[in-house]
Amino acid sequence: MSTWDHGMTANTVGFELLKKGSPALDAVEKGVMEVESDPNVRTVGIGGYPDREGKVTLDACIMDGDGACGAVAFLQGIKNPISVARKVMQDTPHIMLVGNGAKQFALQNGFKEEELLTDASKNDYKEWLKTSNYKPLINIENHDTISTLAIDEKGKMAGACTTSGAAWKMHGRVGDSPIIGAGLFIDGEVGGACATGLGEEVIRTAGSAMVVEMMRNGKTPQEACKAIVQRIIDRQKNPHDVQVGFMAMDMNGQTGAYSVQKGFTYAVKNDTIEELTEARYQIK
Ligand code: ASP
Repeated sequence: MSTWDHGMTANTVGFELLKKGSPALDAVEKGVMEVESDPNVRTVGIGGYPDREGKVTLDACIMDGDGACGAVAFLQGIKNPISVARKVMQDTPHIMLVGNGAKQFALQNGFKEEELLTDASKNDYKEWLKTSNYKPLINIENHDTISTLAIDEKGKMAGACTTSGAAWKMHGRVGDSPIIGAGLFIDGEVGGACATGLGEEVIRTAGSAMVVEMMRNGKTPQEACKAIVQRIIDRQKNPHDVQVGFMAMDMNGQTGAYSVQKGFTYAVKNDTIEELTEARYQIK
């Protein structure tokens, strides 16, 4: 399963791999890479909206059910941060590399530097500069992290999460998406969860880890996503200004999703189903 409409693309690529017997880690990595590499997706990878200084900075993480995980944050000039995150996981003693260190590591490992600010994003940035209006909220026009959760034929789960983050964010801002436990969390005994939307609220609530823990304690994926959304809403003075969505899957492949407001879609694919669903939401 994958977040948002572009989740259909990630699912198609990932499921092909799962059908050939590839591990879930490959499926989630290659699935989200397809979206990162598409310049027309304005919220992930190349073509993503820049920050307030016109720089595209990317955040990503990857995790499996055994607790292996890797992440990069504030990475510039590399269009597939998810693959760099996987390399951090597999080839270093660390979990997260950021900024110049992450870039240096990527270049040393054969990743190519590219201009990620496309003409379309440059034009939008120029337009934005006319007002330079930034409110610390995310509506459903200026974000859309891609996250994917998958189970392979051996019954192993993995997840990947990648984003250009909130459009017009402060230079140096890192959201929830590369933070293990916030943007993504997998526990091989229970299942996995991931988040999209206003990253600051997801970090504050340890969102994805909390969803998985609630599943451990007996909630269904759907109930757990709803409970964390309610917790986030309860913290807000004006919940109408905030959008956060969660998506979760247990080890039996049972799925669920929930968001603060209308508009969060997620895609599910297995042998019999290929569908895009609008998540249920709290604020009517
Ligand atoms: N969660 C991402 C961030 O805060 C953006 C999004 O998913 O909408 O960077």
